[in-house]
Amino acid sequence: MERLGRGFRRSLKWLEIQLRQRNTTAGCVFVSLIALFVTALIWTMLVWALLDAEAGALFHAPVLTGMLAYTSVSLLFYAGVATFSVPRYRSERPRLWLTYALVTWQLTSTTIAAIAFGAKDTPFGVMLLASFALARCWFPMRILWPGLIASAAMIVGAEVLAQQGLMPYAPLFLRPVETGQPLHPWLDIWMQVIYDLTVLFYSGLMFFLFGLMDRHTRDLADMTRIDALTGLLNRATFMRQFEEELCKQQRTRRPCCVLMCDVDHFKKVNDSYGHPAGDLVLVKMGTLLKSATRFPVDVPARFGGEEFAVLLPETDLDAALVVADRIAAQLRGQVFESDGQRFSVTISIGVAQTLAADAEQALRAADANLYQAKHAGRDRVVASVAA
Ligand code: GH3
Ligand code: MG
Ligand code: MG
Repeated sequence: MERLGRGFRRSLKWLEIQLRQRNTTAGCVFVSLIALFVTALIWTMLVWALLDAEAGALFHAPVLTGMLAYTSVSLLFYAGVATFSVPRYRSERPRLWLTYALVTWQLTSTTIAAIAFGAKDTPFGVMLLASFALARCWFPMRILWPGLIASAAMIVGAEVLAQQGLMPYAPLFLRPVETGQPLHPWLDIWMQVIYDLTVLFYSGLMFFLFGLMDRHTRDLADMTRIDALTGLLNRATFMRQFEEELCKQQRTRRPCCVLMCDVDHFKKVNDSYGHPAGDLVLVKMGTLLKSATRFPVDVPARFGGEEFAVLLPETDLDAALVVADRIAAQLRGQVFESDGQRFSVTISIGVAQTLAADAEQALRAADANLYQAKHAGRDRVVASVAA
C-alpha cells in the first residue's frame, strides 16, 4: 500500500515536471494513452452494437458502420503514436508534426464523437471540455490552432445542419437520446461508465493543475523577493521595506538603525576551501542573521555576494550595537568544515542610526562605517548617527 502511494506520488511529480517543461513527446505519451483507453471503450460499444441485434436496433446502421471504421483507424493511430512516443518520452527533441497530428486528431475525433452521440445528453460534451483543457495546459497554443479551428467549424456546421433539418441531433442513434427515455440498460451503464471516468479524470486533472499553478505563482513570487542561497530577502525587497519603514518613522520620530555587514577576506575562503565552502558560509550567515534578529520586526537581507544588510526598526544606536556585536561574536565562534579542514571567518559591520527619510543616504553612512571597520583591521563594528 505504501509502495503504491509512493508510486502514485512519483507519477504526479513526473506529470508536474513534464507539464512545467511542456515536453511535447511526454505530452504525446499522455494524450495517446488516455485516448487509446477511451477510444477502446467506444470501439467495444460500437462492436457490441454491431453484433447484438437488440443493441444494434438503437443505432443508425450506416452511421454506426462509419463510426466503427473511424474509431478503428483512431485506435491504430493512437496505438502507433503511443508505440513511438513511450520509449522516447525523455527526449527533449520536440516532435512537432507528430504533436500537431495527435492533438488535431484527438480534438476533432472527440468533436465527431460529441456530434454523433449528442454532446448534451451523453458524456461526450464533458469529454470535449476535458480534451480542450488538457491540450491547453500541456501544449503551446500554436499546436492547438488546427484542432481548435476544425472542432469549432464542425460544431457550428453540425448545428447549422441540425437547424436546417438536414442532420438529426445525435445522428448515431435511431431514437433521439434527448427524448429522455432509457435507451437500453447496457447502453445506459456504458454511458455512465464513460461519464464517471471522464468526470473523475477531468476533476482530478483540474485539481492537480490548480495546485500546480498555485505552486508556480508562489515560486515566482518567492523568486522575486527571496535570495535562493540564503533564504533571506533580496536587495530590492529590502530597499522597499526600508523605505516603508522610513515613511512610518516620519510619524513616530523614533530612529531606526541599519547594519551593513561584509564577510572578511571571503575571497580567501573561496580560494582556499573552494566555492561550495564559501556558499556554506553564506548559508550559515543567513541562519545566523535570522536567529540573531527579532522576527518579523527586524529585516535581514542579502545585499549581494558576501554583503548583508539588517534593518532594525525603532532601535537606537546602543541597541543596534548589541545586535551587531552578537552577530559578529556568533560568526567568530562558528567553526566550518570543508574536506576535513576546519576554519572560521569574521565579519565587519558598519552601523548607522537615521531619522531622515532617505534610505540611500542611511545606507551610504552605514557603508562608510563598514569601510572604516575594514581599514581599522576588520572583525569589528563601527557605528555612527547619520544625518
Ligand atoms: P574584504 O575583507 O575586504 O571584504 O575582502 P573579501 O575577499 O571578502 O572581498 P571581495 O569583495 O574582494 O571578495 C568577495 C568575494 O565573494 C568574491 C566573490 O567570488 C565571492 N562571492 C560572491 N558571491 C558569492 C557566492 O554566492 N558564493 C561564493 N562562494 N562566493 C561568492
Ligand atoms: Mg564585499
Ligand atoms: Mg568581504
